[in-house]
Amino acid sequence: MKKDCLEIVRGKCEKCHACALGSTRNNIVFSDGNPSTAKIVLIGEAPGETEDMTGTPFVGRAGKLLTEFLAEAGISRQEDVYIINTVKCRPPENRVPTDDEKSACRKFLEAQIDIINPRAIVLCGATALKSFVELDKKQTISKVRGQWMNVSVDGKEYRAITIFHPSYLLRNHSMEEGSPRRLMQEDLRNIKNEVLYDVNHDSIDISSDNIFAGEKQLSLV
Ligand code: SF4
Repeated sequence: MKKDCLEIVRGKCEKCHACALGSTRNNIVFSDGNPSTAKIVLIGEAPGETEDMTGTPFVGRAGKLLTEFLAEAGISRQEDVYIINTVKCRPPENRVPTDDEKSACRKFLEAQIDIINPRAIVLCGATALKSFVELDKKQTISKVRGQWMNVSVDGKEYRAITIFHPSYLLRNHSMEEGSPRRLMQEDLRNIKNEVLYDVNHDSIDISSDNIFAGEKQLSLV
């Protein structure tokens, strides 16, 4: 049922030229994940070059790192998470999508969230965060990440949490306590325990000793 509804939305998206990004794309990048089993909608910024060529979100270096972090936290990318972006077409030179482009594409984003009806939304990076939350000048992603909040999507409230974008982690390799990679690990373990409490994976102990033990499983992409 969800798959059928999403296919209808995808069909409309494939024909869309509501903003200028439609004229330079090779493919729309609609989603990845299993809509029937996903409990989480993870929202990134925009497709990059590899995504534009393949039509799948988060498949470049940053995407591979995200997949590793999810797996390390006990979250299955293919079963637990439905991955989308704020816009479905690649901005030229991988620039940040404009407010107008995000507004034009919002109908697809909202339709996907409405159909999946997730237990939680994970906002991956500053662009996704700012698409749902107005930040004051003192609020940076470093301060907001890891905090549960409610966001409204087309009049419906969802639990949401912000994590770093994996492309940021590609530039920060440290696994020291308080480092971006360590905080990403903590946030994903928190999400696993809060959202996937009845999914048949082992629950994660988020005490610092256990987090430290898990870091050895992550490759430094
Ligand atoms: S980015 Fe969204 S609104 Fe713009 S052309 Fe692509 S599908 Fe349409």
